[in-house]
Amino acid sequence: PISISDPIEEHRICVCVRKRPLNKQELLKKECDVVTVPSKCVLMVHEPKQKVDLTKYLETQTFRFDFSFDETASNEMVYRFTARPLVETIFEGGKATCFAYGQTGSGKTHTMGGDFSGRSQNAAKGIYAFASQDVFLLLNQPRYRNQNLEVYVTFFEIYNGKVFDLLNKKAKLRVLEDGKQQVQVVGLQENPVSCAEDVIKMISMGSACRTSGQTFANASSSRSHACFQIILRRRGQMIGKFSLVDLAGNERGADTSNADRQTRMEGAEINKSLLALKECIRALGQNKSHTPFRESKLTQVLRDSFIGANSRTCMIAMISPGMSSCEYTLNTLRYADRVK
Ligand code: ADP
Ligand code: MG
Repeated sequence: PISISDPIEEHRICVCVRKRPLNKQELLKKECDVVTVPSKCVLMVHEPKQKVDLTKYLETQTFRFDFSFDETASNEMVYRFTARPLVETIFEGGKATCFAYGQTGSGKTHTMGGDFSGRSQNAAKGIYAFASQDVFLLLNQPRYRNQNLEVYVTFFEIYNGKVFDLLNKKAKLRVLEDGKQQVQVVGLQENPVSCAEDVIKMISMGSACRTSGQTFANASSSRSHACFQIILRRRGQMIGKFSLVDLAGNERGADTSNADRQTRMEGAEINKSLLALKECIRALGQNKSHTPFRESKLTQVLRDSFIGANSRTCMIAMISPGMSSCEYTLNTLRYADRVK
């Protein structure tokens, strides 16, 4: 038998890609699917050389990632190969992060949060819920059961460089950095949870808070980063932390023409934070002593997760399969390609 080693076990950084299925509108418009995922690790995008004729002038670009998931993969499957291997890290005194990156509508929230609308308890689970389940599963194993570990969750949003608590009526929070480069989100509620069901309530609450009062056309959720954290403590001391981040749509950075001042400023802020994020992950992967975390609020808030010997991260690049998203899809793949 051939044994294939799991790349996540060997690397501090794992970069994956997930392709969603064509949606109803795309099918109605008879859009062609320009992305193929022929095996676990390879992914191809068919880029038209000319925009006019879709079928005649196809050029194929190939990208390689640690794992690629096609449109048939479930959230649970994606979870198993991405965030699951990082859960143990936080029990061993480490920090873990998992990012969902991609264009608006590519499936970031579906993958991370699942389909929680704040109404149904039986909604499809995402990575937040699966990770929480496994945290409690591990917590109840003999080796951790008697260690007096406590679990807390936080859920906040970073919008235009400002932090809002999604579990406390979107209270605006200040970020402070002390002389020892410790970063603190002042007043961020850490909610104690004692089982996976408790966590699911928090996910529903926070997700509902995130999208409340939004019209689809002006959904600020696509222009903000959402960060869900699972924190392990023992008698107040932090043992480990898992940050699961649903990033702002990456197309906003390019949104410069035809946009008002506010939208342009938001776009610039998103661009800045996604570039800073890439640099921070790269620094982590290369064991660099300098991490450029001050470049954005997102990286500043996650600072402690980018340093330290026991920090690990995973990025899932989400892509839409349709022809009309081709340019954004290529941008996403190029970004993901450079993270590692
Ligand atoms: P994003 O958060 O990146 O803007 P969403 O997660 O909101 O995108 O996804 C957009 C729509 O596509 C949602 O209705 C979502 O349920 C659906 N969707 C996304 N990914 C998948 C998938 N893998 N399978 C089925 N539906 C999906
Ligand atoms: Mg979303």
